Amino acid sequence: MANVIVCARFRPLSSKERRDHADGSIFIRFLDAETFVLKDEKQEEHEFSFDRAFYEGSEQSDVYEFLALPIVRDAVNGVNGTIITYGQTGAGKTYSMEGPSILDCDEKKKGLLPRVVDELFTSIKISEDTSKYSIKLSMVEIYMEKVRDLFDLSKDNIQIKESKVQGIILSGVTEISVLDPCDASQVLSRGIANRAVGETQMNMASSRSHCAYIFTVQQELIADKKLKIGKLVLVDLAGSEKIEKTGAEGIVLEEAKTINKSLSALGNVINALTSGTPSKANHIPYRDSKLTRILQDALGGNSRTALLCCCSPSPSNASESLSTLRFGARAKHIKASPRVSCKDDKYTKKLGAPTSLPTDDCCQRI
Ligand code: ADP
Ligand code: MG
Repeated sequence: MANVIVCARFRPLSSKERRDHADGSIFIRFLDAETFVLKDEKQEEHEFSFDRAFYEGSEQSDVYEFLALPIVRDAVNGVNGTIITYGQTGAGKTYSMEGPSILDCDEKKKGLLPRVVDELFTSIKISEDTSKYSIKLSMVEIYMEKVRDLFDLSKDNIQIKESKVQGIILSGVTEISVLDPCDASQVLSRGIANRAVGETQMNMASSRSHCAYIFTVQQELIADKKLKIGKLVLVDLAGSEKIEKTGAEGIVLEEAKTINKSLSALGNVINALTSGTPSKANHIPYRDSKLTRILQDALGGNSRTALLCCCSPSPSNASESLSTLRFGARAKHIKASPRVSCKDDKYTKKLGAPTSLPTDDCCQRI
């Protein structure tokens, strides 16, 4: 049983925040690479210990190498992986996930997503002699409890289904085969641009929806004709901040309620998964929101999972940062059971489409 990897990341102060806190008051104290202390508005100190804490000077590559690289390498070998960014709006979720832009070639600033793409293609190149690979990409957005296909905006209410063989499935979602990192970046940028189009149509800010980037990596072992399928899902969550009830009305209030509902459903799933007793494990409330349904395999299921808790370094955001870090601390206790998903060629032919069936004869617990 592997734990969910949980890291905290504090972005640098913005220039406005730097001006506002020119007195140099200390708000976060890093004790070591894992542990830090955060002071709340009442000057009370709260200590947190994660798998790794990234302070404001940390590089995108540091975050990638610690949090994502091992998961990506396993995905190439048929182990499902999920990487989630969580935190209030403006805390650095999208910057961590995409970097300043998905097509930005600045090596230093590249986010997790372009680095994942590079590693996927590098890893499959290494195994070219023994395996045939295909990589497919899907992108969906969850807004107001509807799942929208970001490669085909006409599919605006994708249904989530579950099969014993394939686990959680997004029924009819567009899957695009990508041939190299450049191709994948172009495809991703199309999805990101479509997201912006949809946002304008619905008058919605990207911070109010969840976005999932889904890579399906299929490996055919040439010698024994076995297939391994790894699904790698990166999720940039909607802002976790509490919306003041006063002032919010109409669609804004409805949005806030739906986001709160899905993020609290995520919290409830995490609570249920970490509250211990085996009998309770049967009653994990995955079905309470689209988000938790999509993440069902990732949380407590067949996936290696990492959570990046993004925080503002500003004392004025202390209570939101505290709530983000408490969420992360809770998630740290989830146990998952990732395993290699593979099946023999006979089975593939019978079923036609690739699936991620963990069969008894070739599935290994890791
Ligand atoms: P979120 O997606 O959580 O709402 P963003 O990723 O959009 O937040 O970040 C908010 C702002 O902070 C953006 O202008 C972004 O460029 C900047 N930012 C976030 N994290 C970093 C970082 N690690 N280094 C430099 N700038 C960052
Ligand atoms: Mg964002």
